[in-house]
Amino acid sequence: MHKVFGYSDFRPPQDIIIAHLLAGKDALVLMPTGGGKSLCYQIPALTLPGTAVIISPLIALMDDQVQALRRRKIPAAALHSAASPAQQEEIERALGAGELRILYCAPERILQERTLRLLRTVPISLLAIDEAHCVAQWGPHFRPEYRQMGRLRTLFPRVPRVALTATADLASRQEIRESLALAEAQIFVQSFDRPNIRYRMQQGSSGREALAEFLRQQRGSGIVYCLSRRKVEDTASWLQGLGYRALPYHAGLSAELRSAHQRDFLSNRAQIMVATIAFGMGIDKADVRFVAHLNLPKSIEAYYQETGRAGRDGQAAEAWLHYGLQDLLLLRQMIQQSGAAPEQQQSEEERLQAMLDLTEEVGCRRQRLLGYFGETLAHPCGNCDNCLRPPPLWDASEAAQMALSAAYRSGQRCGVQHLIDILLGRDTSRVRQAQHHRLPVFGIGHKLPPRDWQQVFRHLLARGYLQPHPQGGLVLHGSSRPILRKEQRIWLRAVEAVSSCSAKPRKRSWS
Ligand code: ADP
Ligand code: ZN
Repeated sequence: MHKVFGYSDFRPPQDIIIAHLLAGKDALVLMPTGGGKSLCYQIPALTLPGTAVIISPLIALMDDQVQALRRRKIPAAALHSAASPAQQEEIERALGAGELRILYCAPERILQERTLRLLRTVPISLLAIDEAHCVAQWGPHFRPEYRQMGRLRTLFPRVPRVALTATADLASRQEIRESLALAEAQIFVQSFDRPNIRYRMQQGSSGREALAEFLRQQRGSGIVYCLSRRKVEDTASWLQGLGYRALPYHAGLSAELRSAHQRDFLSNRAQIMVATIAFGMGIDKADVRFVAHLNLPKSIEAYYQETGRAGRDGQAAEAWLHYGLQDLLLLRQMIQQSGAAPEQQQSEEERLQAMLDLTEEVGCRRQRLLGYFGETLAHPCGNCDNCLRPPPLWDASEAAQMALSAAYRSGQRCGVQHLIDILLGRDTSRVRQAQHHRLPVFGIGHKLPPRDWQQVFRHLLARGYLQPHPQGGLVLHGSSRPILRKEQRIWLRAVEAVSSCSAKPRKRSWS
């Protein structure tokens, strides 16, 4: 490590992973982007006799790695469709002659008979499957060929295998294990925590005002993410108007303009990059002080990736999110109109829901964020908005119980508005018609204003305690039982629009 790569220390758990692979055992490695995954297979590749084969889904990434290794005088090559026939022939020759220490290979390529035949003739030291989350069938990076990679186990039974990824939610983890035949592999997780990043989230209608306020508190450079190209352009020129050195970046700009803007940002000639998510891949700028989102990201993975571009240097950095409810509607619409398979839509819907849950979280954001990646943080972090300024809450347990029993008592056939009418004791014609004014729940909720009832129902729906029935009406889910039995408490934010700092918390009690 020191001689070839020039590093003085391993970043745990790099050292244990390397030792594990050197002992001939399989591993599943979960590390955040930038954590140092490549070293985990490159050092065993240089230590063990033979050639290490690294499977990677991206040609550009493979070529970058090969160049970096060659600069360090390590014989490496990449076998993929973009290599010329002459280059491929030379790689095959070098491989056959045992001259290569590391061979990168595209997934479809390694399964070709020709490649397999060749690989069987040379000693293979290690098989690494990089970006292993590509096996996840309904995931955003699905690559069908990855599902074949489990075959490598039977094809090369004696070769240690390692799968690596920065996507660590529990579902993908399980899918990686199953598809790659790594059921017994030991799992190594580097913490996904980025303690120097402060997480803040707020909902509201005027994103611009809130952004202006946020930027007034910032020093140094940062990225502002928007959902659409149009919004990128508008926001960038608006910021220029305010005197900021801000530039737009999106896939609709010419390649020259994009790289010019990127250069200006890297060299600090521009302070703010206003961008769609097209910006940031492979950008290595360590001193990004803030990442602001003006729209709701579509998943926690996306949010984590994008905010992860802040504070790579370890100095204090900000991740700030401002979103409106229209973002949610737009994202839902995008999922529904994507034409994707129902299972895919379902899985995207679930990822969006998890992101929403994070925005609605009233406790430590970091605990929930890391919990999503299967990691437990024992104590609240002290460096997120909810830790720094605990939001005023109200105990909605009893209201939730009332809402659920209203849905139940009225036959699980009514919508939110009708249920609120029942709870408030409103004598509407529909209530009369259905004889709902005779229900024991009629009017039991008159102390709470309608807007709080809306909030209670929104929460019950968001968490799936109540579920819309295809034929209309809301039905109770089994998970609502502890609420009905008063075994589970529910706390909701007392002030909905967090952005209006002047709003005083409302005190409320049922007694
Ligand atoms: P990943 O693939 O996990 O995103 P990389 O393997 O590309 O991350 O490594 C990210 C950066 O960290 C690279 O610049 C690499 O040189 C550096 N790095 C990795 N391991 C160490 C180490 N032990 N000490 C110092 N720098 C390291
Ligand atoms: Zn916290």
